[in-house]
Amino acid sequence: MTGPVSSNTGRFQGSGMTSDRTRARMVEALRQKGVKNERVLNVMAEVPRHVFVEEALQERAYEVDKALPIGHGQTISTPEIVAIMTELLCEKGMPKKVLEIGTGCGYQTAVLGKLAKDVYTVERIAPLMDKARRTLRDLRYFNIIFKHADGHFGYPDGGPYDGILMTAAAGYVPDELKQQLAPGGRMVLPVGKDGGTQKLYVIDRTEAGYSEKIVHDVRFVPLVPGVV
Ligand code: SAH
Repeated sequence: MTGPVSSNTGRFQGSGMTSDRTRARMVEALRQKGVKNERVLNVMAEVPRHVFVEEALQERAYEVDKALPIGHGQTISTPEIVAIMTELLCEKGMPKKVLEIGTGCGYQTAVLGKLAKDVYTVERIAPLMDKARRTLRDLRYFNIIFKHADGHFGYPDGGPYDGILMTAAAGYVPDELKQQLAPGGRMVLPVGKDGGTQKLYVIDRTEAGYSEKIVHDVRFVPLVPGVV
């Protein structure tokens, strides 16, 4: 490429001046795939996904179906699955208080952070959580509370939650998470064996108990017990 070398080479410039347009194209592709919620699409048009991945991968950050590595054997969820899960979580109105299990690089956290008043996020791998915390602080998010813990047990101190979203696949629906859901609240999570068929579950807490539906086949990294 010819032309002057830009001095804007920091991670917040990353893909440079084209980011807005690239994000608009990503949003268009998400619409084509059936995502309809305008607030979710607007937020995804704003959040700079490229700053959540390492520089060498930034130019692929807006491909809707690409899960990219974020280190420690983990991946950033694809824009498509982030959109689908967020849309499901917000289907009955925007949740005020959300719990996310599996912070990873923090991209899904950032999307939730623009939709909800408060986001509590739990991650078992300390270096991933610390990096996500730095990225979100640099992007000036002040409504996110981080917790280094095993998400199987949720984050009882912050609960109950209007929405719970899990970004790693559990072998079963953890009871502790169901209990931390407020009446009227909704939980969206992948359930199934690593490498096997996983299903996306939507669980609503009603006055009488819980209702459950299965909406999609999905593929996530496993929810792993313990912390590192
Ligand atoms: N939403 C994240 C997804 C990362 S992959 C992103 O887009 O970057 C799933 C994440 O769940 C990983 O960071 C993994 O370390 C984390 N995870 C797995 N088991 C966990 C557990 N028991 N408690 C908390 N986090 C867990």
